[in-house]
Amino acid sequence: MCTKLVNASLKRQGMSDIRESFNNEIGTDFRGEIMYGEMLSGHTSIAVGGPADMYVLPYDAVSLKTCLMFANDRGLAVLVLGGGTNVIVDDNGYRGMVISLKHFNMIKTTDDPDERVDLFVETGVPLQRLINYCIERGYAGIEGLTGIPGTVGGAIIGNSGSFGQEIRDVVESIVVINLSGMIKRLERDEFSFGYRRSSVEQGLIILSANMRFKKSEPEVLSGKASECISRKKNTQPLSERSAGCVYMNPEGRAAGMLIEEAGCKGMRAGDIEVSRVHANYFINRGNGTASDFLKLMKMVEARVFEHSGVSLEPEVRVIAGKHE
Ligand SMILES: Cc1cc2nc3c(=O)[nH]c(=O)nc-3n(C[C@H](O)[C@H](O)[C@H](O)COP(=O)(O)OP(=O)(O)OC[C@H]3O[C@@H](n4cnc5c(N)ncnc54)[C@H](O)[C@@H]3O)c2cc1C
Repeated sequence: MCTKLVNASLKRQGMSDIRESFNNEIGTDFRGEIMYGEMLSGHTSIAVGGPADMYVLPYDAVSLKTCLMFANDRGLAVLVLGGGTNVIVDDNGYRGMVISLKHFNMIKTTDDPDERVDLFVETGVPLQRLINYCIERGYAGIEGLTGIPGTVGGAIIGNSGSFGQEIRDVVESIVVINLSGMIKRLERDEFSFGYRRSSVEQGLIILSANMRFKKSEPEVLSGKASECISRKKNTQPLSERSAGCVYMNPEGRAAGMLIEEAGCKGMRAGDIEVSRVHANYFINRGNGTASDFLKLMKMVEARVFEHSGVSLEPEVRVIAGKHE
């Protein structure tokens, strides 16, 4: 979720003013961690991104609401960052408040009849932790997502999926908070999912989800998960620093294959390189930057268009850093 609100007074307000206002006005109403000028390259899997004016990790919903109201009052832009595994953050950083829901990390059973189980899952839970939790207990539905990094929140926003399963298969409802701090529950028919997209994006932060799983056997599920991870290890650069797939697959085509056929494997801008293992991944080979990444995207898009006439659509989300 990325919102950009331009406010003339904010432009004049420096980082030390923001810190002072926060401490003076709401310091005691906030439980959590707060950092000023935190480098976002430390919070993205491709290790790019400059400093955030504010980087906050609230401990509870009240503290989150306090932060949102502080940001809202000042016209501060707000960005929720999950695992940072599908985003490219500007080298200039983020002029506003970046929120991490890392402390929203509860998984709880809410219903457990014979054939299925319902879980309440907070969105700061790492997706792999939820997958392991389900596999160990024999809850089927997301074992095919094994190996996808990031959080449950990011997975819902992008409808993450692999090997024929997607997070939408198990999501029954979600609880969201808007930028004014209003919390509400959205049932499954009030939002939709598409290929690597959901309709949840506009101005809403997902706090938790209610998920439904079928019962199966842990051994069966762990067998499937092992198969998925070994196929991934053979075909994707999992140990390299990347932001996942750069482009969505066009109808009936694989973006990676189009990029490979256009001769882009190994193509480079600065320290960002098109992976030689899977061409739809760009790798940070050292000190790559967001501007290198964007430059490489332009080069690849032009080559692919020239070669096949296909215009590639980005899957990664590019987070702009500055107010206009
Ligand atoms: C090596 C590698 C392999 C990958 N393999 C796959 C794959 O097989 N399949 C697949 O689908 N993806 C894959 N990905 C992409 C990525 O891991 C997923 O899209 C992941 O679900 C993103 O989650 P995140 O927490 O990192 O989100 P982030 O990258 O932090 O954020 C993504 C977007 O979601 C928003 N967001 C995050 N949390 C919330 C929230 N609680 N409320 C509102 N908005 C929120 C952010 O603002 C941003 O717009 C891969 C990535 C890597 C690096």
